Amino acid sequence: MKYHIIVFGCQMNISDAERVSAVLENLKYKKTLNISEADLIAVVMCSVRQSAVDRVHGLAQKFEKIKATNPGLKTILTGCVLKKDKKIFSDGFDCVLDIKEIKNLPKIIGQRKTFDKDSYLDITPKYSSKFSANVPIMTGCNNFCAYCVVPYVREREVSRPAVEIIKEIKHLIKTGYKEIWLLGQNVNSYKDKNTDFPKLLKIINNIPGNFWIRFTSSHPKDFDERIIDAMADCKKVTPYLNLAVQSGDNKVLKAMNRHYTVEDYKNKIKKLREKIPDIAISTDVIVGFPGETKKQFENTVKLFKDIKYDMAYINKYSRRVGTAAAKLKDSVSVVEKKRREKVLTEMLKKTALEKNKKLVGTETVVLFNENRGDNYFGKNEQYKTVKVASSKNLLGKLLKIKITEANPFTLNGKL
Ligand code: SF4
Repeated sequence: MKYHIIVFGCQMNISDAERVSAVLENLKYKKTLNISEADLIAVVMCSVRQSAVDRVHGLAQKFEKIKATNPGLKTILTGCVLKKDKKIFSDGFDCVLDIKEIKNLPKIIGQRKTFDKDSYLDITPKYSSKFSANVPIMTGCNNFCAYCVVPYVREREVSRPAVEIIKEIKHLIKTGYKEIWLLGQNVNSYKDKNTDFPKLLKIINNIPGNFWIRFTSSHPKDFDERIIDAMADCKKVTPYLNLAVQSGDNKVLKAMNRHYTVEDYKNKIKKLREKIPDIAISTDVIVGFPGETKKQFENTVKLFKDIKYDMAYINKYSRRVGTAAAKLKDSVSVVEKKRREKVLTEMLKKTALEKNKKLVGTETVVLFNENRGDNYFGKNEQYKTVKVASSKNLLGKLLKIKITEANPFTLNGKL
């Protein structure tokens, strides 16, 4: 029996898909990249954007056509599925299943075998990489940002026991993994008895071995000085942070229910740069949030000028039914949202290039994760993309690279 898996969304969904694969492979299913030879198709969906939801609707129609020639095909939908969408999708899929219920998949597809785990996070994943591993430390979110559906699909925060996390990471390091991504919707609020996020970082940092520790996502309101100190003290924690600001205007931040001010945010970045001078910082920002005026947007432009981000993920606001913001008028036109996106992108290109130019002639360590012909791509400690030409296979290797050329979003280098 063969299965094909399709994943939408963030690293957490990739990690969830690795657990879905583990359950299926435990039932002796083999993975196929060819959808037409699959006996079972699993889709791990994302509900954060309407466009991702629409793509799943498109897939459901495609599966109906495949079933005309392959009536035995089973289709499963899981991941971040909104309650209201579950009913809609139950017409297009044989089974719509909460990710937390994935351990019940054997029963659902008519197999006797049971998967005896308390939490779906206890399932040992089928890691999709041999050198970089996603390790969820918590799931869910208590924050209810006005634009976000995540708290409605993933429900409240649950932290994974620290002993389970440490056990998994120790095993990964023993088997040669070089990069550990600690995942959660808000890793900064991790709490298991008296182990909080800074303590967890220190425990993982003390595991012997040559590996990097990275984490995502961080919420600015929970990103405090103890975390900054732990990042500075733990040499295996890479000097990179994604801290989603979402807006550079206090009124918009309040409307977004973000619980910090622009001043708080800038203060945290200042302290972080004082303690970790070589840190690279990226952010997430939403342009065209309901009611965002041109003047308020200019405050975001000003923040970009002040912070000089290394990278930013700029999103045009899109209405998600069920969220608090969905009740507000989507007042900024599509054209204006595009303009605001372009303004920030141009500013980002300038500041990122300025910073990258300073790296030409320096050396950096890179973990290579992709190749196209003889060109190898990887991320350095600051999570910057580095391209190197090599006739030798560099995949999965941590190597010292000399930077020879800078672009806004990539660095070229040589071994
Ligand atoms: S912190 Fe806000 S944006 Fe992040 S998952 Fe929670 S509600 Fe969504």
